[in-house]
Amino acid sequence: MRMAVDDLPAAPSPANVAGVDVPTGHLIGGRWVGSVATFDTNSPLDWNAGPIATLARGDAATAEAAVDAAVAGFAVWGATPAGERAEVLRRLADLIEANTDAIADVETADMAFMNASMRARLVGRGAANFRLYADLIVEHAERAWPAKNMANTVQWMPAGPAVVITPWNAPFMLSTWKLAPALAAGNPVIHKPAEWSPLTAALLAELTAEAGFPPGAYNLVQGIGEEVGAALVADPRVRRISFTGSPETGRHIGRAAAANLVPFTAELGGKGPMLVFADADLDAAVHRAAWQYDDSGQVCLAGTRLLVEASIREEFLERFHATVDGLRLGDPRDADTDIAPMVHPEHRDNVHGFVERARAAGDTIVRGGAPVAGSLHYEPTLIEPASNDAEVVQSEIFGPVLTFQTFDDEAEAVRMANSTAYGLSAMVWTGSAERADRVGRALRAGLVWVNTFLVRDLTAPFGGVGISGIGREGGWHALEFHSDLKTLMVLDDTTS
Ligand code: NAD
Repeated sequence: MRMAVDDLPAAPSPANVAGVDVPTGHLIGGRWVGSVATFDTNSPLDWNAGPIATLARGDAATAEAAVDAAVAGFAVWGATPAGERAEVLRRLADLIEANTDAIADVETADMAFMNASMRARLVGRGAANFRLYADLIVEHAERAWPAKNMANTVQWMPAGPAVVITPWNAPFMLSTWKLAPALAAGNPVIHKPAEWSPLTAALLAELTAEAGFPPGAYNLVQGIGEEVGAALVADPRVRRISFTGSPETGRHIGRAAAANLVPFTAELGGKGPMLVFADADLDAAVHRAAWQYDDSGQVCLAGTRLLVEASIREEFLERFHATVDGLRLGDPRDADTDIAPMVHPEHRDNVHGFVERARAAGDTIVRGGAPVAGSLHYEPTLIEPASNDAEVVQSEIFGPVLTFQTFDDEAEAVRMANSTAYGLSAMVWTGSAERADRVGRALRAGLVWVNTFLVRDLTAPFGGVGISGIGREGGWHALEFHSDLKTLMVLDDTTS
């Protein structure tokens, strides 16, 4: 039975999380609505205390109503002049900044993201994403050129409703870098955040009315991926799908996109190599290696495979252990915490499963290798695999588990670095500019950092090769993805 938004249940009451009222329903066509079913989210900071919020659990009817609303919203938002769209995006950026504390505190409660990082960096970077795309869409000019007997113009048309599906790690910032280009391009969005960390998406959606989005331009649907997520990507009225998550889900979404011939981008998992050559600044390299435990290793870009030149093996390990010994596991609200709890007991158990299988397969657990009693922390773990084919080398673990291997020369280092099916990011640590250039070019990855990590200008392309993804986000790349390019050719005798 077809359901209009008017037929959906009323929105459930907001949840009070970290002192902030958070909407728990769906935002569809400018109205907060609910579902008959619900799902809970617990806080990794105190899992056993029970749910911190109970949210509407969207279903096929919710998805249908959201796409109806987006189609209606497209008629208005897609026709809004770029300069006016940019103004709305800038107002949203200002509102995000004005709500920094609330967004940071709710994200920390919902998925244990480091509170100081949220306040100092990630909320601001979220706002910067909207400002960047406001600038780009205004700068953007139609390209025109004459040819024999013809005037040509290339027009970037908004593509239509865009579904944006995001994962539970770094949920706020990561969502903004996908939502901003879609909206700037003139596409109405339907955002489906991850069910393990759905709350800051609700805060963001709540700001959109004040920012000035017309009804239906910005929609939020809460629920389970296999339920409402699958229904959204199957709807043939959706004209773009922008997905970040695991390769397995990426394949499901790719099949749905193929059925409707809809372009999609997929930002998927990673298994980044961190190459440390003997000529590197070892203090800096070791510091960064230990930093890969940040956010409990729940970072797609993390350099989880430490590949170290054999001649510095002992020195590297000695310094690495000394640094990791100094890391404090604790509450992400405390400034002196280095490693926060993991997002969910199920995920912590998955991570432990990798370690247990590695142990059984004959890999050496060099340090860590166990859950921490009484919290969702997992010990920072280092594994020396028995071979490069080991599961812990070849599969994404997405937890505080690094592997340690050595190489004898540059060729072997590159071969090992390129030996997995992934190709999202890589790091090279060396004191030689020539080597940096050579190795950087030889690595099979979408992003390569030399003597640094994680920094990226928002205009730079972002994405992976192999099973790490399809397509590129960032800067113009995302704007082009969200647009349909049309060439207009008009007879013009004066150009003959
Ligand atoms: P996931 O694939 O389980 O879920 C991601 C999102 O997809 C969630 O919102 C989920 O509800 C939804 N989903 C699940 N099944 C679906 C379906 N059949 N149809 C539609 N939607 C569906 O991933 P996760 O566990 O939330 O996130 C961790 C993964 O994300 C890791 O592999 C990590 O490397 C990856 N990741 C990649 C990047 C990147 O930029 N490349 C960034 C962050 C995370």
